[in-house]
Amino acid sequence: DPELSEEFKELLGWADEIRTLKVLANADNPRDAQKARDFGAQGIGLCRTEHMFMDPARIPIVQDMILAQTLPEREEALAKLLPMQEEDFYGILKVMAGFPVTIRLLDPPLHEFLPNVEELVVDITKLKMKGDHEEELYEKEALLRKVRALSEMNPMLGHRGCRLGITFPEIYAMQARAIFQASAHLVKEGYEIYPEVMIPLVIHVKELAKLRKVTEEAAQAVMAEQGVTFSYTIGTMIEVPRAALTADEVATAADFFSFGTNDLTQTTLGFSRDDAEGKFLPAYLEQNILENNPFAVLDRNGVGKLMKMGVKLGREANPDLKVGICGEHGGDPSSIEFCHQIGLNYVSCSPFRVPIARLAAAQAAVINKD
Ligand code: PEP
Ligand code: MG
Repeated sequence: DPELSEEFKELLGWADEIRTLKVLANADNPRDAQKARDFGAQGIGLCRTEHMFMDPARIPIVQDMILAQTLPEREEALAKLLPMQEEDFYGILKVMAGFPVTIRLLDPPLHEFLPNVEELVVDITKLKMKGDHEEELYEKEALLRKVRALSEMNPMLGHRGCRLGITFPEIYAMQARAIFQASAHLVKEGYEIYPEVMIPLVIHVKELAKLRKVTEEAAQAVMAEQGVTFSYTIGTMIEVPRAALTADEVATAADFFSFGTNDLTQTTLGFSRDDAEGKFLPAYLEQNILENNPFAVLDRNGVGKLMKMGVKLGREANPDLKVGICGEHGGDPSSIEFCHQIGLNYVSCSPFRVPIARLAAAQAAVINKD
């Protein structure tokens, strides 16, 4: 692990006295959270909970959860995931005691968790050729039907983010319960913790209001069961133009906004974040149609305008609204300067970018002093 030299630490200390933007980090496990702390992160701005579900030991349970055909089936899988999630959150909140930890509820394109259709078809063909494997064949065919029923032409525009919470509120209820059970235990152990629950891919205030209620109910239930109180906040990602355009409405149900500029860039420019760089984007840069890769440096006139509007509308409706950014741009110095200019409260970036972000935030404060 790289260590910061004493001289660099001193420089960062000066930067910290000048900057007004807070610098948080994106981390999904206690090890990365600790690294973030070591680099001076003032909390976790994005904990992507779907990463926790990628653990090979959990994938079968996660598949059961997604492929469940009935609520009791899904609840059986969720009951198995609850203690695992509680342990995940306990670990991160403990490392980050004294600082906010923004935990984002599940946001995967579903296909990332499902068995591959082509592989299933190959397996089935092999079984058919071998013959004499009736039962296995029947099971695989049933699985293939379920997987096909869930497959989407455009998964990134599909059944992900809070849409999962709207269709299967029990998934978000489980995650909220896990966050609050971990919180209750930490409070009993004397830790000062600041959990923040974040809802992804919101387009409409009604989504957020509904999922806020699911989250609050979990908090109330856990406090009653455990006989403790703890505070928490609930906020939303702003990563689709509609959310930024209706930020005044969305802010009425949010304690904080976090700009997810990876998706906001994808949805504003209509460029696939997974493909553009390998296809047409180089031509756009060569021909100077775009000055920078918009996924690396904020597209100030497009995405940036939506952000500016989102901050203004959001704070008009809710003056206490905390606003930050957690897309890749949160670690890019020129984007950080823009975030300072439009009045964000914090940027959140990968742990290794935290020192650079602290310097960039200070520089932005110096340059933009009025
Ligand atoms: C984003 O969209 O900018 C974001 C932070 O979320 P993710 O990258 O997980 O989609
Ligand atoms: Mg996103």
